[in-house]
Amino acid sequence: MPSHQPAAGMLAIDPQYISQPSAQASTAEPNRNPKYDPKKPHITDTPITRQNWYKHVNWLNVFLIVGIPLMGCVYAFWTPLRWQTAAWSVIYYFWTGLGITAGYHRLWAHKSYSAGVPLRVFLAAVGGGAVEGSIRWWSRDHRAHHRYTDTQKDPYSVRKGLLYSHLGWMVMKQNPKRIGRTDITDLNEDPVVVWQHRHYLKVVFFMGLIFPTIVAGLGWGDWIGGFIYAGILRIFFVQQATFCVNSLAHWLGDQPFDDRNSPRDHVITALVTLGEGYHNFHHEFPSDYRNAIEWHQYDPTKWSIWLWSKLGLASNLKQFRSNEIEKGRVQQLQKKLDQKRSRLDWGVPLDQLPVIEWDDYVEQVSNGRGLVAVAGIVHDVTDFINEHPGGKSLIKSGLGKDATAMFNGGVYLHSNAAHNLLSTMRVGVIRGGCEVEIWKRAQRENKDVQYAKDDAGNAIIRAGNQVTKVQQPIVSASAA
Ligand SMILES: [Zn+2]
Ligand SMILES: [Zn+2]
Repeated sequence: MPSHQPAAGMLAIDPQYISQPSAQASTAEPNRNPKYDPKKPHITDTPITRQNWYKHVNWLNVFLIVGIPLMGCVYAFWTPLRWQTAAWSVIYYFWTGLGITAGYHRLWAHKSYSAGVPLRVFLAAVGGGAVEGSIRWWSRDHRAHHRYTDTQKDPYSVRKGLLYSHLGWMVMKQNPKRIGRTDITDLNEDPVVVWQHRHYLKVVFFMGLIFPTIVAGLGWGDWIGGFIYAGILRIFFVQQATFCVNSLAHWLGDQPFDDRNSPRDHVITALVTLGEGYHNFHHEFPSDYRNAIEWHQYDPTKWSIWLWSKLGLASNLKQFRSNEIEKGRVQQLQKKLDQKRSRLDWGVPLDQLPVIEWDDYVEQVSNGRGLVAVAGIVHDVTDFINEHPGGKSLIKSGLGKDATAMFNGGVYLHSNAAHNLLSTMRVGVIRGGCEVEIWKRAQRENKDVQYAKDDAGNAIIRAGNQVTKVQQPIVSASAA
């Protein structure tokens, strides 16, 4: 039962606080230890030393998520595992896991669908059997996690380390004032949530240990096996699996929708967490009842919700339009593309090139510099003359002249790659009316989008739209 305060869930809710949105630092908060005083410095405000380290540890949680499983492992050594108990443990693992993923997470924390009372009672019960705190407490933290992802106010920020996001945040005490505020008025109005919070410890012991033991005991006489395998060890596995949503899902995989924060998509996380592994999608579209949007991706939580809706137990399944989802995907692809193109050499931007007089240009060539003017732009091809695929003499015949027509088909219609390569050699713009035309053309480099710029503000030059490319070949006797 992870909690910031050891007494989470032990206290009955005082009705006067039920509709309070989120009394984070109030001593009267039903989720808080009565000894908690918001004015006193919290233990987390003092550095960990050899003398006080044990005060930083949340010992109840250490017992619940580390101690009990260890005891289970030890007892399992002497307890033979019967196949009926093994099957029941797996089934109950799925039920209690779904209590967290379909119940705590997608129903209560995100309201991604509506459920009638029978389904809510079932999810509150089996979710309690996963021993991860009450719905009210869990959802409040989870909403803070979404709202303040990766920041100080995120209760399980992966920026503090993978282990911290998995277990550390429960094993070490947390300052309640640090966790971001969220509105849970809706949860306080749900009688199932309030009931489960009020009777949390009873729910945990009954659904976590007693119920799985009774099923195995009355079903096939395996009381001890039911207790050890379907109870304790199943709790351990379901806890570790669902903790992976906070750790693994923020650490392993791709970011197809947004890479500014840590959530990631990965099939391994999905397999471990009953389909909660498409976490980059989930953080982008948290109120969508799905995590996996493709039919072939593993999301048993989504399948269960869908099935319940067909059975009339759930309704109002929320789904983002695929148009919106695709937009997010395209924007992220564009971002990646921009990053890739910004690493390439596209030549000096046209508006940063010096303006050269025609006579200067001709004079520099006569002084031995290998300059060639194409479409009013001067390129220094000195080092390229020997490599020119069309031969030295052809390129040399263009030096000191207007080679626009030669380059664009008068002599040879150069390829897109040739225009790209030429742009990396540009050194100036010819004065004489041309430069204005060139700048205008530079802005038109993409015909459809007037000012297509990437994230860094550089013009995007599409194939066939280089400034040196003159669409209608000019027949120029002087250049040939
Ligand atoms: Zn997350
Ligand atoms: Zn979520």
